Amino acid sequence: MENTIELARGLDSKDHLSSFRDLFFIPKNEANKEKIYFCGNSLGLQPKATASYIQQELDDWARLGVDGHLEAKHPWLPYHETLTDAMANIVGAKPEEVVVMNSLTVNLHLLLVSFYRPNPKRYKILIEESTFPSDIYAVKSQIRFHGYNQDDALLFLKPRPENDFIDNSDVDVILEKHGDEIALIMLGGVNYYSGQFYDLKYICDRGHQYGCTVGFDLAHGAGNILPELHDIEADFAMWCTYKYLNSGPGALSGVFVHEKHHNWGDRPRFEGWWGTNKSNRFKMKPVFESIQSAEGWQLSNPPILAMAPIRASLDIFMKAGMKNLRQKSIQMTEFAIRCCKEINSDKIKILIPEEPESRGCQISIVVKNKDKSLFHYLEQHDVVADWREPDVIRIAPVPLYNTFTEIHNFTRIIQKGLSTI
Ligand SMILES: *Cc1c(COP(=O)(O)O)cnc(C)c1O
Repeated sequence: MENTIELARGLDSKDHLSSFRDLFFIPKNEANKEKIYFCGNSLGLQPKATASYIQQELDDWARLGVDGHLEAKHPWLPYHETLTDAMANIVGAKPEEVVVMNSLTVNLHLLLVSFYRPNPKRYKILIEESTFPSDIYAVKSQIRFHGYNQDDALLFLKPRPENDFIDNSDVDVILEKHGDEIALIMLGGVNYYSGQFYDLKYICDRGHQYGCTVGFDLAHGAGNILPELHDIEADFAMWCTYKYLNSGPGALSGVFVHEKHHNWGDRPRFEGWWGTNKSNRFKMKPVFESIQSAEGWQLSNPPILAMAPIRASLDIFMKAGMKNLRQKSIQMTEFAIRCCKEINSDKIKILIPEEPESRGCQISIVVKNKDKSLFHYLEQHDVVADWREPDVIRIAPVPLYNTFTEIHNFTRIIQKGLSTI
């Protein structure tokens, strides 16, 4: 692997984003040596600036009490609005199409209330076969809530038996057969298991041709790939901010509702006072006058201490530039493919799409005998990855704080592990 270590160092020295690593706390081992943190797809690292963003709000609360709503350095009443421009930039939306609120599964339910409107002819939901469990529970419970049978109403998009990844033609096959019965297509933008970044525009276009509503769970997409939600005309999307968006454990969720739906009228939606017209909000009137934007879906006043870390993180994203990050990410996975090709073992299978546009940050390593000892070996050698049942080690080199040299070192460790265990 001599040439790959030199190549890695060369790529790191030419990397215009390399200084961003210093803005994060990198977990260390007992000898105070930085670990290889490849788990940004599960919990992103803490920016060093986050504490001061939270402290600002604590100080303003101490100093001003209730007056902080209007007089805090960043007034709390419109605090959530300070997140929308950057968040919209990250997912390719107009600011009025985006709002940060609640947590992810809560938002999935709120959006299904509006966007899953089954009738006896069209009541099915198409999801991925390997869907994140929370999403499966949410859609199944919504199907039952509407009085349909979850076994009949749920359809699964899956790769052909000989393939690891979903192909656009797999989408065609299922739509040709069931398109007229599908009320909603709800897919992860990037699959949490395989790491595949789906062709979202294709799925939107074909889904809409068949009269289906199309929404995406971007938990593994936001801050990772460029979903361009407005241009592809997705109907809705939601994501969390604790994975690639580095806003802390359990951090809030972002929501996208396409502008074509902003004049929602009295169609089904669960409503609260934060969704009502701002100029009348404090007149305490019993009639709901919707804000004509994604904010119409808001329920509660914003949790400031939970939003401060998102501001801290988005400020870093805006400095780095989402397009630059995506470019580096593609370069990183390109390099990872090259390194992985040198790993010689029939104990694992590496899942990573060949085409750059089908890749996110994540690489999935399928362990063929489902044995966790390789994962434990990585842990013992200061690699932070994660294990997903039944058989996959996921690693995510993140362009904001990981390096090409770490990718090289990782492949050296895994190679050694495979010959040791
Ligand atoms: C991480 C993740 C979740 C987690 O949901 P929470 O409501 O934030 O606990 C849900 N769906 C997907 C696809 C995820 O990757």
